[in-house]
Amino acid sequence: MKIKAQISMVMNLDKCIGCHTCSITCKNVWTNREGAEYMYFNNVETKPGIGYPKNWEDQEKWKGGWKLGKDGKLSLRTGSKPERLLKLFYHPDQPEMDDYYEPWTYDYETLIHSKRRNHQPIARPRSLITGERMEIKWGPNWEDDLANGESARQDVNLKKISEDITLEFHDLFMKYLPRVCNHCLNPACVAACPSGAIYKREEDGVVLVSQDGCRGWRHCVPACPYKKVYFNWKTNKAEKCIFCFPRLENGLPTVCSDTCVGRLRYMGVLLYDMDKVVAAASTRDKGEIYHQVLDVIADPNDPEVIEAARREGISEAWIKAAQESPVYKIVKEWQLGLPLHPEFRTLPMVWYVPPLSPITRRMEANCYLPEADEMRIPIAYLAEILAAGNTSVMTRTLQRLLDMRAVMRAKTTGDDLPSRLEFAPEVYEK
Ligand code: SF4
Ligand code: SF4
Repeated sequence: MKIKAQISMVMNLDKCIGCHTCSITCKNVWTNREGAEYMYFNNVETKPGIGYPKNWEDQEKWKGGWKLGKDGKLSLRTGSKPERLLKLFYHPDQPEMDDYYEPWTYDYETLIHSKRRNHQPIARPRSLITGERMEIKWGPNWEDDLANGESARQDVNLKKISEDITLEFHDLFMKYLPRVCNHCLNPACVAACPSGAIYKREEDGVVLVSQDGCRGWRHCVPACPYKKVYFNWKTNKAEKCIFCFPRLENGLPTVCSDTCVGRLRYMGVLLYDMDKVVAAASTRDKGEIYHQVLDVIADPNDPEVIEAARREGISEAWIKAAQESPVYKIVKEWQLGLPLHPEFRTLPMVWYVPPLSPITRRMEANCYLPEADEMRIPIAYLAEILAAGNTSVMTRTLQRLLDMRAVMRAKTTGDDLPSRLEFAPEVYEK
């Protein structure tokens, strides 16, 4: 057993109101400078939708010349030797500016001096890159609140399961998906970097790009299946979310967590077993991948785990933090947190509590999860995003959420517990 520590985050999707405060506060702190205008280390997508950059979930489109081997390691896709050599020097599958969006400002001069109109505001958009006037065609949250619009029909996950879902007007649904770098246990960006400039910090697992070490190869950009590495056109270096490590080192949460209006982000320490990482990363069975990821997380109260953590030099403060971690409780003990697209097999360490729709009807129905087609957000769709398509994992998670709410509600109101609970109340006692 080789135990390591990882700082991790859980987001409760039922509470996200799509206000984008997290994106803007993050931008103001980390990417408000030349060369980084188009970057959002934190972005919030309306799903279904094609997201930012466009179609990032489509692994065929962005296969990037890399393949994930049976051993969970990345290597160059096979091709002729010259092709492979060429790919070492130039990577063709790069997202382009159009896939993100061309950042703009407004022509504020004309706001008060325009001779054309009296009414305000009349400032026209101007490109932040070229300085030219421009038409705005796309933005990182262009699909805000669109539900099942045109972009939803292009959503790669919805396409996959469209045979099971009828997209009628009365079936409209949407949800928000806030995204940051997942600080994965098997980070594809690290594996793809020829310069060794991207690394996973030993002490807390934060994945960082050394700005001195980066040679601008850009292999990390397409290699990350979540498209969470960006290329700075001014410095010619890669950049990504740093999990606000200077704040973490001073005992503060990340900016996005601190400023989240819905208070839906929980941060905490996880201990994990390095020896199980390869097994989880090399799992081919999509139905099993969630359980494998969960298996990597070690019990911080197990004496053997504590001993192994001490052997690895993990401090007593971090072991205590892992024992008190809300992330451990939500993800491992209660099994309410799921990783985003675990089938990408990078073992993401940002987790999501899925949205529980339509709660009231279910409470009245005495805790029975309704049939899949009665859910506002189809279970198959949620499963495609958060459980590698495994609908039984998603159904079980939603039922647990429902039971937990019923127990908490009964505790507050003094009412009897509903007659039917799939999971025993003791599970939620702690
Ligand atoms: Fe690297 Fe992407 Fe994982 Fe972040 S989400 S650690 S950038 S592979
Ligand atoms: Fe959602 Fe919180 Fe971000 Fe608002 S600040 S969009 S509630 S994650």
